[in-house]
Parts: sequence; structure tokens; C-alpha cells
Amino acid sequence: MIPIAKPYFDEKELRALEKVLASGWVAQGPKVKEFEDDFASLVGARCACAVTSCTTGLHLALSAVGVKPGDFVVTVSHSFIATSNSIRHCGAEPIFADIDLDTYNMSPSALEKCLKENKRISAILAVHQMGMPCNLEKINALARKYGVPLIEDAACAIGSRIKYGGMKNWEYIGKPHSEIAVFSFHPRKLITTGEGGMLTTNNRKYDSLFRLLRHHGMSISDTVRHKARKVIFEEYPVTGYNYRMSDIQASVGIEQLKKLPVILRKRRDIADIYIDKLRSIDWLKTPYEPDYCRTNWQSFPVMIVENSPLSRNKIMQKLLDKGIATRPGVMNAHSEPCYNKVHSGSGLKNSETARDSVMLLPIFHSMMKEDLDYVIKYLKGI
Ligand SMILES: *Cc1c(COP(=O)(O)O)cnc(C)c1O
Repeated sequence: MIPIAKPYFDEKELRALEKVLASGWVAQGPKVKEFEDDFASLVGARCACAVTSCTTGLHLALSAVGVKPGDFVVTVSHSFIATSNSIRHCGAEPIFADIDLDTYNMSPSALEKCLKENKRISAILAVHQMGMPCNLEKINALARKYGVPLIEDAACAIGSRIKYGGMKNWEYIGKPHSEIAVFSFHPRKLITTGEGGMLTTNNRKYDSLFRLLRHHGMSISDTVRHKARKVIFEEYPVTGYNYRMSDIQASVGIEQLKKLPVILRKRRDIADIYIDKLRSIDWLKTPYEPDYCRTNWQSFPVMIVENSPLSRNKIMQKLLDKGIATRPGVMNAHSEPCYNKVHSGSGLKNSETARDSVMLLPIFHSMMKEDLDYVIKYLKGI
């Protein structure tokens, strides 16, 4: 069986885990701080704050820019459900903008339509879907024009890069190019801590707020209390949450982050071969990477075009019969019962097309050349 994805661990993570268990400090502590510092310096952000998941991170990010009950946030329906759920966690409602079919990301013109027609929009939540950076340049220009803060759902986008604001150099997603970017360390992403998330920002006020809110709203951190030589009494100025990452998770994250360059290189090699070899299949469209960005190839989506000999679902079954796992493309939140009454600001034709006609092919670090050839051979056989 060739799986759709597989995390990449070796004895480095095992040794890190042994050390952290032996230290006796397993909850949020020095390893979380080290992971945050490593992450911030990698992406070039002033601050990085670790949390339990991207979803809880998005909740804090939206709260920090002032999203509150009764508000609206423009986002895409074409995303994992957590994107919309994080808006609801603030008591707000999403407004869905359609996507562009070439990149599967938020269409700037659909976004502008939503911004023009709706009052009480308190944030834009843009997604770098499957690691492919959205058009941050255009989306940020609209955010400024309408005076609405922009947050990036960068769940899948660790290691993805962009040329931004006329810069000649590649910059990592998470620098950030907006108020706040939020990443996930779920095993379906490039590096994993089992579960986990990271918020990056250049705004120290936001960062302090994240640290307060993730830690029950407690005024003093565990590390400060642990090191104090005087008895300390904490305060609780706000109602917080328990969104803390553990040092067990962070010790794995530190090792995973070191592997990112080789993971990125390998995934790009696989994607290049897929693109080259699948080009000749006329019923299948390989992904498009715009000049302004370099994806991390978190997923490899192919679109089954209208005149294909078999439906997408039949093709997926045929591949599964041959031991090749695929997944349907990204879901649409508005097709799910919990969001079917949500207002779409732009029509969602492209989102629905992508939902129904895209499938994801296996791509992961330990994928062998023979596995890749096997997948390509059976696709061509169809
Ligand atoms: C995976 C994912 C999330 C959720 O991340 P968790 O860390 O599992 O909370 C959110 N948004 C997108 C686009 C994702 O792909």
C-alpha cells in the first residue's frame, strides 16, 4: 500500500524525547521557548508563540485583532473546516469568497465583492491552501483599502516562500506579511509534533496577548515562577484558555524543524517528476505554481477535467484497488450541515468545482522512486 502521507521521524526525535522525559519538565517550559525561537528565526518573524493546534492559534489570532460576537470574517469555503470553525469560536460568522481555479486560493476579486457588500466585517482570514501561497500582495492591498486586518491560515504552509512587495529575495510564509500567520503541526503537514500550532507576528502586543490567553490568563509564566527565589502570587486579569504546547511536543518539533530543508527538497523532486510525467495525460490537470511563490508541496492536487473517461471517484477507487491511496480535494465548508446557511458573498462555483474534481496523490519524504513510478504507471494506464 502506498499511503497518501507519512511523517518523517528517526532516532533524533527519540533521543530528544528521552532527554525531556528525564528532565522531569514535560509541560510548557524551556523546550517550548527553544522551539519558538527556532521557528521565529527560520521564518524571519519577530515573535513566535506555540499553542495546541492551528485551530486554537486561529482563535487567538482572530480574537487579538478584535473579532467578537456579531462580527463577520471573510474567508474561503474551500478549506478544511477548522478555518471556519475558528471564526465561530470567536462568536462571529464567516462570509465565503470564491477561489481561483489555477491556485485553489482566495480570488482577490471575489474578496473585494464581499468587502464592498458587507458591513461589520472585522477581519479577512486568507488560507495558503495545501501550502500554495495565496496572492498576499493583492489581498493585503484590499485589506488596507477597506481598513480590515488580515490573518493568514498558514496551517499547511511551513517552508513555502513568496516574493513580496517588489523584493527580489524569497521570503518565508510567516514572516509574516499580514498581522499574524498561524501554522499547524498535525501529521498531515510537513513537520509534526503529533498535534500543535504556532502563531507568528511582528507585533509584540499581540504576542504578549497570545502568551496570556494560552496560559489561563495567568499574569506569570511557569518559567518565571520556577526560577523565582521569592514566593510569587499570580493574577488573572482576563479569562484565558489552556492552549499550551507541552515540552514533549516541542522537543520533537525542534528536531523536525531541522529536517525541513531536506523535506522541502525531496517533495519538490517528487512534484517535478509528477508534473513532467503526468503532463501527457489529457484528462488530468497538474498544479500551477505562480511566479511570485514557491509552494512546499504539502499536497499534490490534480484536477480531473470534464471530458475524462472516468469520474474522479471511480479513478480514486481504481487506484485504491492497486494499493495507491488518494484523497478527494479540499472540502467546502458551505456543503456541510453546520455551515449550509452561511451567506456567500461571491457565489462559490469554483470552490464546488475544485471540491468535486480534484484528487490528491501520494507525496511524502520517504516515498521511493519505485512507488512514484508505480503511481504514474497506473494513472497512465487509466
Ligand atoms: C490542517 C488545517 C487546519 C487545522 O490545523 P490543526 O493544527 O489540526 O488545528 C486549519 N486550516 C487548514 C487550511 C488546514 O489544512
